[in-house]
Amino acid sequence: MIVFTKILPLKDHLLKLRNQGLSLGFAPTMGALHQGHISLIEKSNAQCDITISSIFVNPTQFNESKDLKNYPVTTETDLDLLLRNDCDIVFLPNVEEIYPEGKAYTMPYDLGSLVKVMEGASRSGHFDGVVQVVDRLIQIVEPDKIFMGQKDFQQFSIIQRMLELKKSSVELVVCPIIRGEDGLALSSRNVRLSPEDRILALKLNQALHHIQSNYKNGKIEKLLQEGKDLLKHEKIKLEYLQIVDRKTLLPLKSTQNSGVALVAARVGNVRLIDNMLLE
Ligand code: AMP
Repeated sequence: MIVFTKILPLKDHLLKLRNQGLSLGFAPTMGALHQGHISLIEKSNAQCDITISSIFVNPTQFNESKDLKNYPVTTETDLDLLLRNDCDIVFLPNVEEIYPEGKAYTMPYDLGSLVKVMEGASRSGHFDGVVQVVDRLIQIVEPDKIFMGQKDFQQFSIIQRMLELKKSSVELVVCPIIRGEDGLALSSRNVRLSPEDRILALKLNQALHHIQSNYKNGKIEKLLQEGKDLLKHEKIKLEYLQIVDRKTLLPLKSTQNSGVALVAARVGNVRLIDNMLLE
């Protein structure tokens, strides 16, 4: 495994690989890696000749400076995990390398309501930062395929739309949510949950599961109310629980169509998101 911190030598190396006819798979991350991230590496290894991962805690997608400051950094163990899981190349840049001209950004794509609903409404500016960094990383790596998790449903929907608007040849591969044995979606932020809050956090999964199991023949309003009731607890601050169309991310009016239920809540002081597909 080769680790690059600078763009130019990385690009040089990737060009050589591309010229040998090798396909490139890319899994961008913010580090503090867990099995969810590793599932992206595995999928890339299965579908591409060379797997590249990046570890970059992107400051422009954090709408709260406290969240950025508290974001876990575990670079040594991350590199070890990537090595053990046959990642070929790691890009580990600093902020200046990614944003040599500063972090200011004007969103060049019209992403419509995709960036305004749910996470967009709760975390102002978040998706501008996500689009900014993913677009930049794609320009640097020029992968054949980019691997992202369903865990961040709205994020991959937005990146998919961005790729369509750019008429990009990069293929986005969405990978299923990896959960702990107790059902909690793996997240780098889970390490900040106290043991009691980790148990409370399972309510997110339970609420989504309730909606999923009762979706067929159910009523949207009733399912959402029941989901919200399951999440009621003094230490859980619900930000949203929605049932939306998988493409537009706009609320569904009936359970006739397949959709997705998404939730965001603060458990103690940790903000968690999760989602489940509905058929
Ligand atoms: P992050 O490091 O949180 O920015 O995540 C990097 C990538 O890993 C994103 O595409 C996430 O959707 C994906 N990811 C994070 N958690 C999981 C999970 N539990 N299962 C599958 N993919 C995940």
